[in-house]
Amino acid sequence: MKPLIDTFDRVHDNLRISVTDRCNIRCFYCMPEEGVKFQPREEILNFEEIERFVRIAVTLGVRKLRLTGGEPLLRKGLAKLVQRLGAIEGIQDMALTTNGVLLAEQAQTLYDAGLRRLNVHLDTLDRERFQLITRRDDFDRVMRGIDEAQRVGFTTVKINAVAVKNLVEPDIVPLARFGRERGIEIRYIEFMPLDAQGIWDHGKVLLTDEMLGMLTREIGPLNVIQDQDPRAPATEFEFADGKGRVGFIASVSKPFCLNCNRIRLTADGHFRYCLFAVEETDIRTLLRDGSPDEAIAEAVRASVKSKWIGHQINTAKFVPPPRPMYSIGG
Ligand code: SAM
Ligand code: SF4
Repeated sequence: MKPLIDTFDRVHDNLRISVTDRCNIRCFYCMPEEGVKFQPREEILNFEEIERFVRIAVTLGVRKLRLTGGEPLLRKGLAKLVQRLGAIEGIQDMALTTNGVLLAEQAQTLYDAGLRRLNVHLDTLDRERFQLITRRDDFDRVMRGIDEAQRVGFTTVKINAVAVKNLVEPDIVPLARFGRERGIEIRYIEFMPLDAQGIWDHGKVLLTDEMLGMLTREIGPLNVIQDQDPRAPATEFEFADGKGRVGFIASVSKPFCLNCNRIRLTADGHFRYCLFAVEETDIRTLLRDGSPDEAIAEAVRASVKSKWIGHQINTAKFVPPPRPMYSIGG
């Protein structure tokens, strides 16, 4: 079958699958503090449905998967799903994004299921700020999760840190130092307008150039990595002394939509051609009403064909998506 190419000649081979919209912490830039309404269980895709969708996606050229959420480690039997998806012929790479709270307990099982790449979300090494951001006191558990993932032998452990202005400036350099010591790449992600409470504005984004300045002044020069995949969302740098890497996801200050190769499936089975998409395609109904694989493939192709050129965060035209981050799957 033909690969998933949109009208801007972008080839889509990277599928991000949300396995739950539930979460055990409450990061303020993602979820409200209280009163979150989660999707009813019967609306969440089961493992057979996810696996079927991935098999169809592989026929359309998908080669890379990332499991996310909500908090994916809350999904019962996740390691089984990892094993099933990893066994699909054509899948060349699978990774998982987690907040790390349950990682110490699950790292070995996930590794045994074949997972080798992890991104652990951690914005700060300061316990109090961790609590302020996540509204939970789980800093030690996340640190134990990172220790355990490295002990178990994951090939890649990266840290995702959300960059919010007037809040995490004191964390930028300590996180990079921690990464240098531990062989962990820190990925700084500019705060995006995907929070549940509509608190985002441009002034709350800690910009990539500001962070680059801090790191260069306090640690040392950084060289951009030359052979990186142009379609990857992060721009990666290496410290000139050869000790450690950092990456920046500059969605706000330097949007990278023209190189996008990503598509998404929400936990309740909706297909999205963009993190910021306002419209989505209901795949769950097709998965459950006896539709053949070809009808599902056609729905995916049609959605990708209608993909826009990119989000318009920096224009007055920008409309935030109807679902917040935890419900889309970051
Ligand atoms: N719960 C897992 C976690 O926190 O890593 C997986 C899902 S979470 C939605 C995926 C990633 O989205 C997180 O690692 C976090 O870095 C990022 N994120 C959440 N809200 C964000 C926002 N408003 N702007 C930028 N990144 C955000
Ligand atoms: Fe949960 Fe991840 Fe959202 Fe934080 S960013 S509230 S850990 S889903």
